[in-house]
Amino acid sequence: MKVYWLYQCDYGHSWILFRDEQELERSEDKICSFGHEAVTLRKRKPVDEVKIIIQPAGYVSDPVKNQVVFQNKYRLVISNLDGTEERVSVQVYSWKELLDLIEKIHIRAKSTEEAWRLWDQIKP
Ligand SMILES: [Zn+2]
Repeated sequence: MKVYWLYQCDYGHSWILFRDEQELERSEDKICSFGHEAVTLRKRKPVDEVKIIIQPAGYVSDPVKNQVVFQNKYRLVISNLDGTEERVSVQVYSWKELLDLIEKIHIRAKSTEEAWRLWDQIKP
């Protein structure tokens, strides 16, 4: 399971990595961008929400004439934070429609399970 690795150095700099909880720490992980070594590392579970990906739906249908299908249209992709499960919308949406859809699914869902349930109801 991926978790947040929260580092802090003695100079008050903090930085965050999103890694598997059991992954081995690399030497560069514990150095802040100013070159100080971390003095603390805390690992914390992420909230139970889905990740949102906005995928451009357009593709070149005729390379010679440079014709594009679904110009300025998008598909919505949601996945769990580990990226092991995802859903891709069948329909394509304008930017405004996409934001409405994100609100319906991501904002209303209180958990990953609820997001899958809403997705299955809406069938985007
Ligand atoms: Zn520092």
